[in-house]
Amino acid sequence: MNSPVRAFRGVGGEPFFVERASGAHIWDVDGRELIDYVGTWGPAILGHAPRVVVEAVESAARRGVSFGIPNPFEVEMARLLSEWVPSIEKVRMVNSGTEATMSCIRLARGFTGRDVLIKFAGCYHGHVDSLLVKAGSGALTHGRPDSAGVPEALARLTITLPFNDAEAVEQAFRNERIAAVILEPIPANAGLFFPKPGFLETLRTLCRENGALLLFDEVMTGFRVARGGAQELYGVTPDLTALGKVIGGGLPVGAFGGRAEIMDMLAPDGPVYQAGTLSGNPLAMAAGLAQLRELERVNGWATLEKLGAQFEQVVRAACPKHVFHRIGSMFCLFFQEEEVYDLASAQRGDAKAFAAFFHACLREGVYFAPSPYETGFLSLAHTEADIRRTGEVVAAALSKPCKDSFSRL
Ligand SMILES: *Cc1c(COP(=O)(O)O)cnc(C)c1O
Repeated sequence: MNSPVRAFRGVGGEPFFVERASGAHIWDVDGRELIDYVGTWGPAILGHAPRVVVEAVESAARRGVSFGIPNPFEVEMARLLSEWVPSIEKVRMVNSGTEATMSCIRLARGFTGRDVLIKFAGCYHGHVDSLLVKAGSGALTHGRPDSAGVPEALARLTITLPFNDAEAVEQAFRNERIAAVILEPIPANAGLFFPKPGFLETLRTLCRENGALLLFDEVMTGFRVARGGAQELYGVTPDLTALGKVIGGGLPVGAFGGRAEIMDMLAPDGPVYQAGTLSGNPLAMAAGLAQLRELERVNGWATLEKLGAQFEQVVRAACPKHVFHRIGSMFCLFFQEEEVYDLASAQRGDAKAFAAFFHACLREGVYFAPSPYETGFLSLAHTEADIRRTGEVVAAALSKPCKDSFSRL
């Protein structure tokens, strides 16, 4: 596989290969049909191969697949983003979420003239050297929280703190000149948990008072939890925002943007270098625009909340003991009873019970991500029948682990 999270290391066995996918269903090369809750790890919010996206890509491709010269799609995308996302006055397109967060931290360091970053344990921001410290699902599943090959000198410039611990952040601000605080406003790469009331507001205040930038990594939450992302939902506006996943309609896209004064530091206007041969690629822009406009046209977020609530009901009914977290169309079932609010509390689950559950579901045609630390996704293509069927499969899969697995708690 070309990304380690696709391996079944957290659950045992071997990954299947996909032949095609349509709506909420995927078919593997052996002809097996699955109800999919991975949604290509987030982007497939309309389901797989939605007609509006496929047609937009076909139509764009006929006019050329890449130019390396500005094209009107990029301008349309920039307009949409500055209208939808509260913090974005100016934006630059890139090709992945990793590129977006990497560029954000370079820009934050260039703007503030400082080097030290604060991140939170369990938050994943792509495989950026400076951010690959206690970084969530991929690393956790493989039992290696920090990567080899990251120079110690760089890692030393990243302070990692527990999520939801405002006091630890205050302390760090007293001791260091901080360039930026980066976080997933709703951490979704170490299971799924939520900011406690006031936590995001405290970060906002501390950054403002100390001349540091607040960076929201909304690669996962952007366009997923609300039209304007978690920042709209919580009413806290960061200085810079990283976007990815849903924004590309399934093509390789990322974006970052924020206050004009900061974005103006980017080359060619400013001294912070950032570039990309394929950035603003016409196919990717066409796919993303088609997906985002369709979401808005059908008010997808309201429907996703309805589907999410229905899904929550069937899962909670199947096993009321488990901690179950959901926001809109994002969910995580924890194989534990204790509350989850940071990385440490998310790691108390029963990994063996999860692996048994995962395989029991897969055998019956329901595909959840192959790791207990991943967030699941519903799409607009999931039907009530899909969810009912999933409820039956989950109930059957849990009936055994639920009785047995918590014995050690
Ligand atoms: C997936 C993800 C990334 C990395 O995006 P890629 O496109 O895989 O590079 C960064 N941040 C968050 C919050 C993510 O979920």
